Amino acid sequence: MARLVIVSNRVPPPHTRGAQAGGLTVALKDALRRREAMWFGWSGDIADPPGAPHSVTVGRHRYVTLDLTPDEERLYYTGYSNGTLWPMLHYRVGLLEFRREEEEAWRAVNKRFARRLLPLLRPDDIIWVHDFHLIPLLRCLRDLGAQQRLGFFLHVPFPPPALFAALPRSEALLRDLGAADLIGMQTQGDAMHLSAALAEFGIETPVGAYPVGIDTAGFSRAAAAALTKRETTRLIASLGGRSLILGVDRLDYSKGLPHRLRGYGALLRRFPEHRKRVTFLQAAPVSRGQVAQYRALRRELDELAGRINGEHAEFDWMPLRWLTRPLARSLVAGFLRHARVGLVTPLHDGMNLVAKEFVASQDPEDPGVLVLSRFAGAAAELSGALLVNPHDPEDITEALHQALTMPLAERRERWQGDWQALSNPPGGNWAQAFLERLSRS
Ligand code: ADP
Repeated sequence: MARLVIVSNRVPPPHTRGAQAGGLTVALKDALRRREAMWFGWSGDIADPPGAPHSVTVGRHRYVTLDLTPDEERLYYTGYSNGTLWPMLHYRVGLLEFRREEEEAWRAVNKRFARRLLPLLRPDDIIWVHDFHLIPLLRCLRDLGAQQRLGFFLHVPFPPPALFAALPRSEALLRDLGAADLIGMQTQGDAMHLSAALAEFGIETPVGAYPVGIDTAGFSRAAAAALTKRETTRLIASLGGRSLILGVDRLDYSKGLPHRLRGYGALLRRFPEHRKRVTFLQAAPVSRGQVAQYRALRRELDELAGRINGEHAEFDWMPLRWLTRPLARSLVAGFLRHARVGLVTPLHDGMNLVAKEFVASQDPEDPGVLVLSRFAGAAAELSGALLVNPHDPEDITEALHQALTMPLAERRERWQGDWQALSNPPGGNWAQAFLERLSRS
């Protein structure tokens, strides 16, 4: 079997596994397990000047990482990737900040990565590049003469072409994408948008939907086992028999957190029977704290959380637990399992793995209810969830009320459908399906 070369902005350290690893790492490590592979990307470190690539080999897997300079980190990563492309691809043109200097640095870093990668490649490698940070790498590799099969996966949404056209120099980005032999997207809708945008410039690269999945059975086992963990027991004891509504996100404006908190506040006003009977735990660790929009969002949410508690709390009941510190990944599965309601309401999300993790974590005999944004990629697969428009706090309120009062038989029926959908996705394992099609290209 040909060697697989994965290129992504961040490379996980060789020994991260299971509960420590993010969803993408788990999924890709699974694809790597059975074959020889190299994983190439940014080390996460900053150095001036950047030293030689670091290389670690564990068994049949080699990990090669490069450092960024402080300027590269500021312009390529914080600036263009997180400050321009992230809002653009999540339909937030109003938040888009375009600076030519950043776009040029983004291209220059990609060029440097391509130059460093090229001598490490073998003629029959399969190269799989991940996400928006590394779009120009595709064209750079081709320009340097790389002839290998070259795949690209976009983990975030892609807006309709008319919206995407707002991005300055968007044509150049699309032409870079055209250097790939196959492009994978999270949903059919995203694939259609990108195909249409490419077609406007006569670019004919194949684009397909390969919805990213999780290890459903493995996550389910971890969640059941986590129930007896000391921290899960402490959480359950602290709830005093109240129903747990749980949100687990990064603190990001794509996650719809202000609307979500308002929706919960309205639940306590409009449906007072839930007062003192529920606790909403929202974990939202600060992310991308150097980007101005994220700092403003944090202030807004801190204020909103304080207001909800101030308005509704009683001397022996706090309605909202608002956590901006990181929650250990190893705790998430057990907490999700205990939750009566999983509240996942991004304004736009490529997939949203938390939604899938919530379904996987539930007790089949007594499952909780997922309240899910219709604009999360996961909504295309999870028809048993209560789908909401995340821009409408009242819609969230009503879904919360429905979830909290749903009879057991309906909860089971909805959950079973979603469990089936995740356990047997129609396209099979997303990474395998993508790589098989790429190998045939
Ligand atoms: P994104 O990639 O935009 O952060 P996803 O929902 O697709 O969103 O993936 C997030 C991953 O990180 C999931 O595996 C989830 O369990 C984990 N995660 C998200 N927020 C937290 C948190 N507050 N604490 C611990 N893990 C989290």
